[in-house]
Amino acid sequence: MLAYLDTQLHHQSSTSPTSNPTSPTSDPSFGSDFGGLIHTRPAAVIRPTSSADVSAAISLGLPVAPRGNGHSVHGQSQADAGVVLDMRSLSLTSPPRTIILDGLHYADVSAGTLWSELLAWALRAHRMAPPSWTDYLDLTVGGTLSNGGVSGQTFRYGPQISNVAEMEVVTGDGCRHVCGPENEADLFYSVLGGLGQFGVITRARIPLLPAPDMVKWIRVVYGRFEDYTSDAESLVRRTGSDAFDYVEGFVFVNSDDPVNGYGSVPLSSEVGFDASRVPTGSGPVLYCLEVVLHYREGEDVEKRASEMLSRLGYVRGLEFSVDVPYVDFLTRVKRAEEEARTNGSWGGPHPWLNLFVASSDIADFDRRVFKEILKDGISGPMLVYPVVRSKWDPRTSIAVPASDIFYLVALLRFSRPHPGGQRVEDLVRQNRQIVNCCRTNGYDFKMYLPHYKTEEDWARHFGDGWSRFIERKRRYDPMAILAPGQQIFRKKG
Ligand code: FAD
Repeated sequence: MLAYLDTQLHHQSSTSPTSNPTSPTSDPSFGSDFGGLIHTRPAAVIRPTSSADVSAAISLGLPVAPRGNGHSVHGQSQADAGVVLDMRSLSLTSPPRTIILDGLHYADVSAGTLWSELLAWALRAHRMAPPSWTDYLDLTVGGTLSNGGVSGQTFRYGPQISNVAEMEVVTGDGCRHVCGPENEADLFYSVLGGLGQFGVITRARIPLLPAPDMVKWIRVVYGRFEDYTSDAESLVRRTGSDAFDYVEGFVFVNSDDPVNGYGSVPLSSEVGFDASRVPTGSGPVLYCLEVVLHYREGEDVEKRASEMLSRLGYVRGLEFSVDVPYVDFLTRVKRAEEEARTNGSWGGPHPWLNLFVASSDIADFDRRVFKEILKDGISGPMLVYPVVRSKWDPRTSIAVPASDIFYLVALLRFSRPHPGGQRVEDLVRQNRQIVNCCRTNGYDFKMYLPHYKTEEDWARHFGDGWSRFIERKRRYDPMAILAPGQQIFRKKG
């Protein structure tokens, strides 16, 4: 098979990449990604249509990067002089399938399926949906399961890596495995949050739950960080009918700056932000808690919502809400994408920084980072919201803080390319300054979607889990072929 595919690669190099699933391509997008910061030249791009194609590609002996939708920002799904596996092609030949086990519904999906595609299929087929999401859905199942998959549902259901029942994986020796919590469990947990290091996920079994028709989507504003965190933490501790269905939040600039300021808060263009309500003496930034209640058409959600809001200490008069179909809520970032494409900031570089910061350190982080370093905003959302560690399975490969509650901090920079926007080097430098601030102040923190270059940094990132990570690499990808763009291990030989 190896010789066959090798011949195919050379033989087909002049044919159209879309005409054959295993043809290489000179499409430059496979040497780049959403971040637009790292550019490489793969030797070939292969479009697998089965796990056998994935095994054959691995058998070539070159570095192999599975690429989902290429929405990494630091070259993680690239393979300089290696093979890029375009995992999207798998979804073209394998549509989702319904599995019912012990009365529970699951979707068996190819790893190259976008979450937006899974949502559309599950609603249409069953009026059901996966419980755990990311904010943006044009990411592949395999891409987010290799990282974490975090959003406002995480406090309740755990990240996406806590919501998988089974996977089909091709390991670094080219062997195909079907693994789950009861079957090849070590491989299953290694791959979840494993940064593509231990195997190529080709299929995943995702649980489905009945979907609501509508959501009440609410934003409320806080002047003081301690009031914001106290309410947000109490909300993520709630369970059952006492809990919201989604809890997130963000920091915005205490000014009428059109991008970073008050205008980023209202949920509809018909309602403005009444700046006279901002408490006097507020600092350079304010905080917005964002919550959602699911409901069925015709159900009275108003009473429940106002009762739940009445217990919160937000600034009265600075509350905003809209009722929207569930699908419109889940696909909300798609609309932001359309706007960003129009103003040119979607195609520009995206030096994003994502961190998990322990709740014990988040007030100091606010003081040093949000109120000082980022007090003028970042031309994009600055998310900060708590999640509960008990919903994260310690057997998975992801590194998170030790604290029972920790915050996702996401600095999602959307500036236009220089000279219209800020210089990308300056933004990268600012990110480094923030990471250094976390280090020098001894915070319990981890980078999410990490990007380090030295072994020392990776060892520090994984901490006590580093020896386990190395052992897993030895077991499942001994030649260190997989996902070279993560820059954790170097291919042997
Ligand atoms: P890629 O970038 O293509 O790949 C990511 C990594 O996974 C690479 O190392 C790759 O080799 C590996 N990989 C890909 N597919 C497979 C596979 N099948 N098997 C094994 N390894 C594989 N993240 C969140 O958690 N929450 C959010 O709300 C969120 N919002 C985002 C919004 C936008 C606009 C963007 C650009 C990113 C967002 N992310 C979010 C980050 C996103 O989850 C990661 O960047 C994710 O990796 C992107 O998925 P992808 O399919 O594009 O993966």
